[in-house]
Amino acid sequence: MNKCYCMRPHVFVNLAMSADGKLSTKERRQVRISGNADFRRVDQIKSQSDAIMVGIGTVLADDPSLTVKDTVLKKERIDAGRDENPVRIVIDSRARTPVDADILHKGPGKRIIAVSGSADPAKTALLSQYAEIKVCGDEQVDLLSFFDYLGTIGIRNLMVEGGGTLIGSLFAEGLVDELFTCIGNMIIGGSDAPTPADGEGFINEADFPSLVLKDATKIDEGILLHWMVRKKDNLQ
Ligand code: NAP
Repeated sequence: MNKCYCMRPHVFVNLAMSADGKLSTKERRQVRISGNADFRRVDQIKSQSDAIMVGIGTVLADDPSLTVKDTVLKKERIDAGRDENPVRIVIDSRARTPVDADILHKGPGKRIIAVSGSADPAKTALLSQYAEIKVCGDEQVDLLSFFDYLGTIGIRNLMVEGGGTLIGSLFAEGLVDELFTCIGNMIIGGSDAPTPADGEGFINEADFPSLVLKDATKIDEGILLHWMVRKKDNLQ
């Protein structure tokens, strides 16, 4: 086992998918999948997190700000001596984050962009005006070493918002501890539409991440599933 493992944050993935398992349309256009009750739940768990993470595909498709929305939740964070928003993190090997992206400008708080050695130094210099730039890996962001780094700067609880490519890599690296899946009451369809764990996928059944269902709750017009990930070295 990597000796830094205990330092890595506790990671929970939160996603909303249609009844046919799609995160967005085949054009990667954002869709409102869940309702107001789920929106409040997501805001709540976000406000309890030290950091929130997305992949560059999500920044380019949705331009999210990832701020806490509810004023009471914001105040609770500030009263507890924390920043108004969790640390906002983009996984972005080639530093493609637009300099005018909402995540860099909306709301106070720290931002980190994880890049690789393949990123254009001129672009990283530009982005460093708005975010800490952390180089991890040669071609693609090395998630294991980046998560070790997050442990060293005190990130204990990390919420991952997507998208499917990043989530697929996190499962492949064994970095996910919990998964919240809100299933909405619509069919999006399309074989090219993003799903919760895209990317390479797993070939051998022995490699499939195994989940333990902790809870299933009706929410809005859909259902919320809360899963724990069974760790290979610590079967629950
Ligand atoms: P993504 O997962 O947000 O980002 C993927 C990108 O991250 C990769 O293409 C890669 O680009 C970068 N990356 C860097 N290092 C990586 C690594 N080690 N492993 C994996 N990726 C790495 O993008 P996406 O899959 O295209 O998902 C975006 C779609 O998901 C959008 O349509 C959005 O609307 C949807 N979405 C839905 C939800 C939901 O809950 N319904 C939530 C979020 C997003 P580089 O190599 O260039 O860096």
